[in-house]
Amino acid sequence: VKERGRDGYLLYSAEMEEVAQHSLFIQSELRGAIAANQLSLVYQPIVDSRGQVVCAEALLRWNHPQMGNVSPSTFIPLAEGSGLIEDLGEWVLLEACDFINKLHGNGVPLDAVAINVSARQFNQGAFAEDLLRVIERLGVKSNAIELELTEYALLSNLDVVKQAMEKLRSAGISIAIDDFGTGYSSLSYLQSIPLARLKLDAIFVSKIGVNESSNAIVKAIIDMAHGLNLKVVAEGVETQAQYDFLLQQRCDLFQGYLFSRPLKEADFVNYIESVPVK
Ligand code: C2E
Ligand code: CA
Ligand code: CA
Ligand code: CA
Repeated sequence: VKERGRDGYLLYSAEMEEVAQHSLFIQSELRGAIAANQLSLVYQPIVDSRGQVVCAEALLRWNHPQMGNVSPSTFIPLAEGSGLIEDLGEWVLLEACDFINKLHGNGVPLDAVAINVSARQFNQGAFAEDLLRVIERLGVKSNAIELELTEYALLSNLDVVKQAMEKLRSAGISIAIDDFGTGYSSLSYLQSIPLARLKLDAIFVSKIGVNESSNAIVKAIIDMAHGLNLKVVAEGVETQAQYDFLLQQRCDLFQGYLFSRPLKEADFVNYIESVPVK
């Protein structure tokens, strides 16, 4: 839209107006979505180098009676902007804990479920304390939960962030940096905060094999992470060629349509049980 420059200004502003109206509509509808039972979680398997499912990422879905499925890429930023993210985040946590308890009750072997935490949610008051209290109340072991944070969550006061992370880590909760390589922060934080994993953003994975330099970037990120004792999860793995390259670079974990799309609870359990043990 911006490329239209000055001549496009009027059109641009009319479009902006429409987008703004639509955003307001989504925000007001989202306010009632939890109570109206319109939200659900789906779980995408994360596999190791043998193809075994070791964890799952919980992804939020919103099915609205008129709009149909609204993408989290649309409504999460709006929830962040309107303060609704705290309620949504709490709902996601409770629902994921419920699922973890169900899996354990059924003897399904899974190391952990990863939950996305938005920057605003993480930086709100007592995130770490609240989370630890909730999982204790629900009887979920702390090592059954992982948190995925983007670099944006680290941009505010690093001391405060560091303190919260240390609290979580010493309680046994692993933290991953999501969408690694797409943020604008410096790399120095990698040394100063307690992390377990980097999630290599899908944009890099999608460029594997395109040219030498895109391969070199993937290799460099994996090597750097290993040098810092961090595991690497490759996101958005769609082809066998991408998987082969990542395996060759000793990437640790893999997620993407090549293995499975995000699945509903029951389908997830079926998927785990259908993967042959190697
Ligand atoms: P993300 O955390 O980077 O999640 C990965 C996204 O990639 C998911 O999109 C997933 O469905 C998609 N994906 C997985 N494998 C592939 C693949 O092989 N190819 C392609 N093209 N895509 C793949 P989704 O579910 O639409 O979520 C979008 C974003 O919304 C997430 O990106 C995350 O930032 C946010 N989000 C989702 N659920 C939550 C939540 O519960 N809380 C918060 N704060 N954010 C969430
Ligand atoms: Ca449920
Ligand atoms: Ca994520
Ligand atoms: Ca990601």
